[in-house]
Amino acid sequence: MHASTSRPLARPLAHPFARPFARARRRLGGWLDHLAPRGCALCGTALAPRAFPAFCTGCLLELPGARRARCRRCGQPTDAPAPACTACAAEAPPAVDATLVAADYAPPLDRVVTALKFGRQLPLARPLGELLAARWAGALHGEPLDCLVPVPLAPGRLAQRGFNQSLEMARAMSACLGPSFAPLPVLPRRLARLRDTPPQAGLALAERRTNLLGCFGCSGRLDGLRIGLVDDVMTSGSTVAEAARALKAAGATRVVALVVTRTA
Ligand SMILES: [Zn+2]
Ligand SMILES: [Zn+2]
Repeated sequence: MHASTSRPLARPLAHPFARPFARARRRLGGWLDHLAPRGCALCGTALAPRAFPAFCTGCLLELPGARRARCRRCGQPTDAPAPACTACAAEAPPAVDATLVAADYAPPLDRVVTALKFGRQLPLARPLGELLAARWAGALHGEPLDCLVPVPLAPGRLAQRGFNQSLEMARAMSACLGPSFAPLPVLPRRLARLRDTPPQAGLALAERRTNLLGCFGCSGRLDGLRIGLVDDVMTSGSTVAEAARALKAAGATRVVALVVTRTA
């Protein structure tokens, strides 16, 4: 339950230590769980060692939109599960072949995403990555992937924030797909954001697409790869669609968007 939603999510990290801490935590892996058992990322309830994903049962059951029927292609809510909504059925060939949405961008999960990005609470990337991994294993296990690619930040934004939250979530997701699933390689530098774009908020759908046109580029070929494209928040879908076009132009055969939250 999230009775204690006013509770701080996690201790904020000083920016200069954010990246070394993330590296150390990844390397230490499960050992840290034994030394300092984790709490639910939303309410802080103590979890069993190696609990996966790191949310208590009550919070998992109450995640907004987690059990909503969605279009398999774009993740938009639908009346019943559908391979493609009306808009997706009209798009051929699709940029994004399938979309997995873990939950709606709504309280209380939006608070976790915001704390990760703007509060620099880097440890929150791990439960969010685990949540995606758990949803993928449950919903898209028939959707094989060869690697994970995070939606990149523009260089200016990356320098300002100190980390790319989508990369940190992709690493967490990859690391916890074992033991029955082989860990997926994460390719953090193959997709780049070539230019900074004005914020998408406040733009109409057509303007969002124009705003992003040609803003992603790939280094090297990705021939034949089935790629999981990881992002934290999906709004219109224009960003993942433009990123997917760049991946396919580099040879990717299939792109599956893996997004933690989608705005309703
Ligand atoms: Zn909880
Ligand atoms: Zn759709």
